Amino acid sequence: MTDGLLAPPAALPRPGGEEREADRIVYDLDGIRHRYDTLRRELPGADIRFAMKACPVDDVLRALLHRGAGIDAASVPELHRAQRLGAPRSRTHYGNTVVSDRDIADAHRLGVTDFAADSLETVAALARHAPGARVYCRLMTTGRGALWALGRKFGCSREEAVRVLEAADRAGLRPSGLSVHVGSQQTDPAAWRAAFDSLDAVLTALAGRGPVPDHVNLGGGLPALGGLDRDGEAAAPPIEAILRTLREGAARLRRHHGERLRLVIEPGRHLVADHGTIHARALRLTRRRLPDGSSQAWLYLSVGRFNGLYEMDALRYPLRFPTHPADAPTVPAVVAGPSCDSDDAYPATHAPAQVPVDLASGDPVHVLHCGAYAVSYMTEGFNGFAPLPRHCTGGVGG
Ligand SMILES: *Cc1c(COP(=O)(O)O)cnc(C)c1O
Repeated sequence: MTDGLLAPPAALPRPGGEEREADRIVYDLDGIRHRYDTLRRELPGADIRFAMKACPVDDVLRALLHRGAGIDAASVPELHRAQRLGAPRSRTHYGNTVVSDRDIADAHRLGVTDFAADSLETVAALARHAPGARVYCRLMTTGRGALWALGRKFGCSREEAVRVLEAADRAGLRPSGLSVHVGSQQTDPAAWRAAFDSLDAVLTALAGRGPVPDHVNLGGGLPALGGLDRDGEAAAPPIEAILRTLREGAARLRRHHGERLRLVIEPGRHLVADHGTIHARALRLTRRRLPDGSSQAWLYLSVGRFNGLYEMDALRYPLRFPTHPADAPTVPAVVAGPSCDSDDAYPATHAPAQVPVDLASGDPVHVLHCGAYAVSYMTEGFNGFAPLPRHCTGGVGG
């Protein structure tokens, strides 16, 4: 049996007869380190804490920790993992506003001192289960300009933020700061300008009251830089303009509210997306003839939405075909994963990919710029397609 849909992938022979390498996701630790170092240079003095949900791979976390990164954790299991890998307690915070009493108590026992909140209920729970903890309040943002807005589920109004920090103060907690998240893969500098406006306004409203915030947390949202366009136009996000906006915003807040105000930032996607590549295979390139008389070429890959490409509904990844020269004749094809789910495909709004016309079943296909949220969103084996093994190149301690 030689059809990739039916036989176990690892057992399939290559066209040349050699044993085929199994599908996998490969992270380039040197690239991730380089991205981290660049961000440190661009945001001098900022405390960079990796949002570990974007890439919960031990060697990636070790490489970033070794470089000096802190950790934004969103659950007790994430905290356990971060601590096992040596994350410094003083620079690990619990950044999820969604927490049970038990989560708070467990995190407190683990030595976590910084918690996010966006409601009076959470402040009351923190006072009970993490007495004396530092609390920062998350402000709502619109998410406009981002591929994934995070505004609906998280954050509160400016007025409520004042009440939340005052309540923390009264409850014996330490009202320590404010946070925002402008939405993931945010490419519009204006989104950060608007966030700084909110931060500035709340800090002004707090002046002369009890709480004296010592930091602002700018959250995540910094974009991946490569290959994520929907329509095939390679428009790189304006990262220089975004970083300039962050420097200017931070300077404005310090001018208005004191030079001692610290800046925390929690990038996830930006640090890892461009440095992860999935090594997959073509299952088949087909031409499907449709009832209306039209036809469409489809490229089915061995990897899809449920085992590495969860974000394929929004992102359009560049593909490489290592067995074919770059100038091989191509056909425009819709890209889809191997499962029986129709969401496991590029949506109709994505431009098709250019695929070599004679790509054969079993030929390798590399999917680029897919290092963020790939592993964390893999299913346990939907339809029997196993989660991908992870490999890292470049030493952890480099
Ligand atoms: C997910 C998340 C991040 C990281 O977001 P990216 O868009 O990947 O940078 C940062 N902070 C919080 C609180 C998050 O939930």
